[in-house]
Amino acid sequence: MASFDAIVIGLGGMGSAAAAHLAARGRRVLGLEQFQPAHAFGSSHGRSRVIRLAYFEHPSYVPLLLRAYELWGKLERESGRSLLTITGGLMIGTPESDVVRGSLRSAQAHGLAHEMLDAAEIRRRFPPFTPQPGDVALYEERAGVVRPESAIHAHIEQANRDGADLRFDERVLDWQVRLSGDVEVRTTRGSYEAPRLVLAPGAWAPGLFHLPMLPLEVERQVLYWFDPPGGPAPFAAERFPIYIWDRGDGVQFYGFPADERGVKVAFFRTGRATRCTPDAVDRVVQPNEVRAMREALAPCIPTLAAGQLVETVTCMYTLTPDHHFVIGVHPHHPGVVIASPCSGHGYKFATVVGEILAELTVNGVTRHPIELFSPSRFL
Ligand SMILES: Cc1cc2nc3c(=O)[nH]c(=O)nc-3n(C[C@H](O)[C@H](O)[C@H](O)COP(=O)(O)OP(=O)(O)OC[C@H]3O[C@@H](n4cnc5c(N)ncnc54)[C@H](O)[C@@H]3O)c2cc1C
Repeated sequence: MASFDAIVIGLGGMGSAAAAHLAARGRRVLGLEQFQPAHAFGSSHGRSRVIRLAYFEHPSYVPLLLRAYELWGKLERESGRSLLTITGGLMIGTPESDVVRGSLRSAQAHGLAHEMLDAAEIRRRFPPFTPQPGDVALYEERAGVVRPESAIHAHIEQANRDGADLRFDERVLDWQVRLSGDVEVRTTRGSYEAPRLVLAPGAWAPGLFHLPMLPLEVERQVLYWFDPPGGPAPFAAERFPIYIWDRGDGVQFYGFPADERGVKVAFFRTGRATRCTPDAVDRVVQPNEVRAMREALAPCIPTLAAGQLVETVTCMYTLTPDHHFVIGVHPHHPGVVIASPCSGHGYKFATVVGEILAELTVNGVTRHPIELFSPSRFL
């Protein structure tokens, strides 16, 4: 029977990164994934994710982002894959909105390069946007797009190169800690043991963390691609940034420059979430959902609101009540590390989360500031 130092459950955005970082440290890793690499049934598909530095959610994320950027650059160089496109980013709303106020707070706290634009300047620089006279935006040059599927492949390739044993189409049924302290993992194909376990199961976390008091909720999300009338040229990555638009009524939507299929937009927060379970999520997008997206876009990016719908995809957020991540050593099992870096904004951190999970697995501690993400805050 093969012998492993650590088992990683889930090889999506975070688990693939953890496997790569553990294998790079010379650890013998077994990775278990229920689907194929970079599949479309979890939280890490849809071709693009926003990456940004002036983090409106909390200034504590900024040091992690600085390290994440460094590691994205390293992963690009080592894998030969194009994983990041820097487009610049606009955080738009009234000066009092969470997105504008929070981004400015982080930029000032960490001395990040940024510009504040008024509505006229936003329109001048980025003609597709039609902000209201009182709207402003924080613009930062370093924001852009990460490609999640390519990044998962890059981490899987690195883990394989460093000797990890990664198994796909193998579903974990359960895990338990034995009296010896080793962890036993039972799957659809067999059972395995190792002294350490990393749980990175995305939307399947509520069933696998063995923490019934942890208030995780899974939410269905929809991604939309539109083809604007007149063509996508005004939305090309050379001239159109990523953005998050805070309407100030609990609704925030965001979007990307055009990709090969169209111009992608989605709601970030809607104030009215659709709860789901990962094995029974409704993947059919209804006409009233498309209508709601067009209505949100109409006053802000009218040419996109008038575009032809070319594609929709559903995806899942795993949410905590405070929208901060869950990352840490399992409160009841010191040999187990748990990771739910989602709440709809975790992908950009995948590289540094891989490093954190590897450090926690090997040393029980990490050099990175993760106090905000303690699993114990809810218990
Ligand atoms: C629509 C949408 C838009 C988003 N936009 C952004 C953005 O712009 N910027 C950003 O930074 N973040 C964004 N996020 C958040 C980000 O994508 C997530 O934080 C990230 O994908 C979470 O990665 P994960 O590894 O936790 O989950 P996943 O990538 O889903 O990986 C979990 C893996 O575990 C596997 N698994 C689960 N249970 C088992 C089992 N029993 N046995 C074996 N394998 C199992 C799953 O199959 C899956 O592959 C967005 C998320 C969504 C849904």
